Amino acid sequence: MMPRFDAILFDFDGVLIDSEPLHYACWVEVLAPLGVKLEWNYYRDHYLGVADREMIPRIAAQTDPPLDWTALWAQYPSKRNCLRKRLEHPPFLPELSRLLEDLRQNHKLAVVSTSVRVEVEPALEAGQIRSYFEAVVTGENTEKHKPAPDPYLLAARMVGARNPLVVEDSEPGIASGRAAGFEVLFIPNAARMPALVRQRVM
Ligand SMILES: [Mg+2]
Repeated sequence: MMPRFDAILFDFDGVLIDSEPLHYACWVEVLAPLGVKLEWNYYRDHYLGVADREMIPRIAAQTDPPLDWTALWAQYPSKRNCLRKRLEHPPFLPELSRLLEDLRQNHKLAVVSTSVRVEVEPALEAGQIRSYFEAVVTGENTEKHKPAPDPYLLAARMVGARNPLVVEDSEPGIASGRAAGFEVLFIPNAARMPALVRQRVM
């Protein structure tokens, strides 16, 4: 039987791994000394799928009184350091390896993330799932980020896909996949991803 899709293009944070609370906790930790208060609900509703570099000026502008965003951005190395430590034991779902093993029988697999490479590759390696993916597109690989179509178009080109399924949890990510002309599967939280993907592709 012909598979419905020739590739599955996975977003990383919130899709392959329940990492958004970790990103959030690290930003809270490094920005609190500067007087920034960041509520999880607000962060979840406005900043998922947004590159750190694009998020920080928005956070600075919304602080009362507004802060100089460059002072906040100076904390970026600390945030990355914090996240690196928390991702040493990455919280991948236990059934993820089996899902990827099943999917790769009939599909090319790729990761398409706005996060920088050092926030993605080491976690894939630590979780022993890096080898399932023929391409890992990260923030550095395209000038324009989600919601622009560029990251998904690049990944599709890299794996030679013409009819891929995009798997996404954020508004910018969904918009990016649709702008690329691909079908998009929305994931409300990473724990439900394997079942939803199996339902859609098999
Ligand atoms: Mg995401």
